[in-house]
Amino acid sequence: MKFTPYWLDTAPQGPDRSGSDIGGRVEVAIIGAGMTGLSAALHLARKGASVHVFERDTVGFGASGRNGGLATTGMSIGFRDAVSRYGFDTAKAYLLDYHDAVDTLEQLVADESIDCDFARTGKLNLASKPAHFDGLRKTHEIMSGRLGLETRLVPKSELSSEIGSGSFHGAMVEARSAGLHVGKFTRGLAEAAARLGVTLHEQAPVEKIGRLGGTKHRLVTPRGTVEAEQVLVATSGYTGRPFRWQQVRIAPVGSFIIVTEPLGEDVCDMLLPNRRMASTSLNLLNYFRITPDHRLLFGGRARFAGSDQQSDAKSGRILHKAMTEVFPQLSKTRVDYCWGGLVDMSMDRMVHAGEQDGLFYSLGYSGHGVQMATHMGKQMAEYMNGTPTANLWRDLPFKRIPGHFGPPWFLPFAGGYYKFKDLIK
Ligand SMILES: Cc1cc2nc3c(=O)[nH]c(=O)nc-3n(C[C@H](O)[C@H](O)[C@H](O)COP(=O)(O)OP(=O)(O)OC[C@H]3O[C@@H](n4cnc5c(N)ncnc54)[C@H](O)[C@@H]3O)c2cc1C
Repeated sequence: MKFTPYWLDTAPQGPDRSGSDIGGRVEVAIIGAGMTGLSAALHLARKGASVHVFERDTVGFGASGRNGGLATTGMSIGFRDAVSRYGFDTAKAYLLDYHDAVDTLEQLVADESIDCDFARTGKLNLASKPAHFDGLRKTHEIMSGRLGLETRLVPKSELSSEIGSGSFHGAMVEARSAGLHVGKFTRGLAEAAARLGVTLHEQAPVEKIGRLGGTKHRLVTPRGTVEAEQVLVATSGYTGRPFRWQQVRIAPVGSFIIVTEPLGEDVCDMLLPNRRMASTSLNLLNYFRITPDHRLLFGGRARFAGSDQQSDAKSGRILHKAMTEVFPQLSKTRVDYCWGGLVDMSMDRMVHAGEQDGLFYSLGYSGHGVQMATHMGKQMAEYMNGTPTANLWRDLPFKRIPGHFGPPWFLPFAGGYYKFKDLIK
């Protein structure tokens, strides 16, 4: 078994960008070469800006190369929860931004000819408990009624047309959701940005940042120092000390994934005949899908812990058990890949983007960043160019996580809380 993300292992390797010169002045500096940073870089370069991206590790090292590859039209919180928090009109605007986000992703893939298996196969929201199907029914009524969106309810009696599992009590299909190969997409996005003149610096951690006035900053890396007119922090769950204001507002929660050996088309036709992206309805949910080469990818939070090889292996065993509970027919199937990554959870599980002390930032995608990080990169390019309305999330208060001073000591307690909620609801 490989403890490396399947996506990065099966995507063409990009050039080594760890030897580039760092120094002098740049118009825009972006911290983080994931979907947010690379999309922002590309869109800013399209406007003619000189852009440098600084990445602590390599392109796609963070969540962008480690996720499930589900680009869904739903928010991290349910639509009905959003309505009770923000009122119908605001909740609708937020939800529709997720629909726009999948469009942004699709457009970018087409415009830049990124070969990444993007397909709008739809998303299956599976009811893990009978009462959860009632919730899905209510959501479907609002979505297909007042919002006019393409959703469909699948009762338990018809579920075999969608999934080869007896574990669920019905489902709701979101037809416009998509799946893609995120390794090919992220590396392809980096290539596209580089073609437009963006300079990418790998192995270039920004260790210190100092404000020089307005939005102008000095960035210090071990390989050199630069001055930038504008800086975008795009570090998601990997946000560290130099960006303290953002760091204490984000809980880096481990999420883990296993990928099976190739199963062949016939077996995949039995598991997920319509190749939908799928997730369960528990608080500690599982998500799964078929990969382009016919493996099953199965992920979830498994444990509230960070990610390293030992932690990933432990989570992998929990995920294997969960996978065989959903699909007992896979009990003898080999697992080829197991890895983990950090999800950038905000207190309210909403996107947070704006400017603080002259620093631009976009993060807090809370597990729904494949489409939204890509979209926010584009929107932040507009926002930084002087169009505040491009950033829909600009007025949402970004609250500090109580007791969060750096290392996320509180994760096991939060995990216990959500496990308890799943038992009782
Ligand atoms: C296991 C897992 C599964 C997921 N599944 C899904 C899914 O199926 N669908 C979905 O929509 N979302 C999913 N997500 C979330 C999604 O992947 C993220 O929201 C999205 O990739 C965030 O992109 P980003 O560019 O903002 O951040 P990242 O891709 O995390 O990039 C941030 C980068 O910043 C770099 N960095 C940090 N600090 C510094 C510094 N000081 N100097 C230089 N560089 C620095 C890091 O090395 C990192 O590469 C998942 C996340 C994980 C971890």
